[in-house]
Amino acid sequence: MKQFPLFLNPAAIRIVIIGGGEEAQRKARLFCAEGATPEIIAPTFDAGLIEEFSGSATLTKREAEASDFDDARIVVIADASPDEARRLYDIAHGAGALVNVVDQPDLCDFTTPSIIDRGEIVIAISTNGAAPVLGQKLRGQIEAIAPPRLGDLAALARDFRDSVKAKISPAARRAFWRRALDGEVGAKALAGDITGAREAMIASLNTNNPDTDRPKGVVHIVGAGPGDPDLLTLRAHRLLQEADVIFYDRLVTDEILSLARRDATRIFVGKAKSNHAVPQEEIEAQLIAAAKEGKVVVRLKGGDPFVFGRGGEELATVRAAGIEAFVTPGVTAATGCAAATGIPLTHRDHAHAVTFVTGHGKGGRDIDTDWRALAALGQTLVIYMGASKAGEIAGALISAGRDPDTPAAFIENGARASQRAFRTTLHDLGDAVDAVAPSGPTLLVIGEVAALGDAALFNIIETHQPERLSA
Ligand code: SAH
Repeated sequence: MKQFPLFLNPAAIRIVIIGGGEEAQRKARLFCAEGATPEIIAPTFDAGLIEEFSGSATLTKREAEASDFDDARIVVIADASPDEARRLYDIAHGAGALVNVVDQPDLCDFTTPSIIDRGEIVIAISTNGAAPVLGQKLRGQIEAIAPPRLGDLAALARDFRDSVKAKISPAARRAFWRRALDGEVGAKALAGDITGAREAMIASLNTNNPDTDRPKGVVHIVGAGPGDPDLLTLRAHRLLQEADVIFYDRLVTDEILSLARRDATRIFVGKAKSNHAVPQEEIEAQLIAAAKEGKVVVRLKGGDPFVFGRGGEELATVRAAGIEAFVTPGVTAATGCAAATGIPLTHRDHAHAVTFVTGHGKGGRDIDTDWRALAALGQTLVIYMGASKAGEIAGALISAGRDPDTPAAFIENGARASQRAFRTTLHDLGDAVDAVAPSGPTLLVIGEVAALGDAALFNIIETHQPERLSA
């Protein structure tokens, strides 16, 4: 038989749960989470149940009696023997209650769904008992795309319903809400800035002619992580679904792009070191222009936008142009590659600090790095954009006093299917990188921890080991 979904007002009805064990506890948790105060009846209660519900439910310590069901609307029978469950079902059902006997589908007038709770917004899933595990899985997927603060946004919308009704004509109302929820108001509320979201809502209601105003665009500067779509944040994933236009660069993989809303415009503003397909100023101008057209703009960047990603420059420029901009972090290459190869970046025995350094300065110039400070023992150095200068960097570190035998690793296309990882020593690093000649993004990791990586994943390259000692 098919099922019909209903959303109950739990405070308005009497809910009785029979049982004092784990099943009763589980059901009580479900009802209490949605604001009910069930009455739980059993001759004995598990200690855990007492602890969890002594404040939020009524516990009655005795066998259930027929009169318990007199004015009950919802009855759950848990932890009862089959005969007892059947007997109680007949009484409760006969008294007019909707009954659920746990794990006995033929004795269920209703079932409890898998629930995704976002405050005002509640999503319930039923598989009609056919495949509860499938329901759980689906729930996980929906949890992932329903932002945790969706309920706050819904509550805010509720607060403004009357004002919107009063100010915006019925014909324009839908568009107004869409614009608010997709634009600045939604972005702020979902990012946890409820005050800002309210202000934005008031501002858009107070503009002279909200019916004809252009929607207000936003720019999201979003980290895409090192390449594996599984490493996207939930927020990045959601923004890819919401974007009208996506500006992405070379480090963003196709797999990640394929998660974007199908009709989003994708614009490649590729970036190869010192060979920018589109100059930075031009990218920033394009972000601003798209936002001014009222679009939800996603600037998608490899790794984390604030780690050697020019996210700071873009944020400042976009904001200076009067456009709302938000930043979503991503897994940076250092942590992504470290996890993918089993290199702990810090370790109580080997490294008490980790430093992220760039191997390239602005416009491809050499950077003025204090290698002496970075050469100190007991810390890990992670070098971005350093592959083409690996030999020079290693030489500088050795001259500054770092032991030539210090383990060093480099990882190409980290956290992607095409990942290649190599291990050597600081002394051999330059030659090893040259020999491998990586063509994908490559990260250098220097320090004792580089030797701790998962051996099965690494190629070991040691070229000059013997000569080095006499060098
Ligand atoms: N914002 C990015 C870094 C951009 S700079 C981040 O947070 O990861 C580009 C450099 O990052 C590359 O030259 C390389 O050193 C490193 N990098 C980025 N993705 C990488 C990957 N998947 N594997 C190895 N190195 C990577």
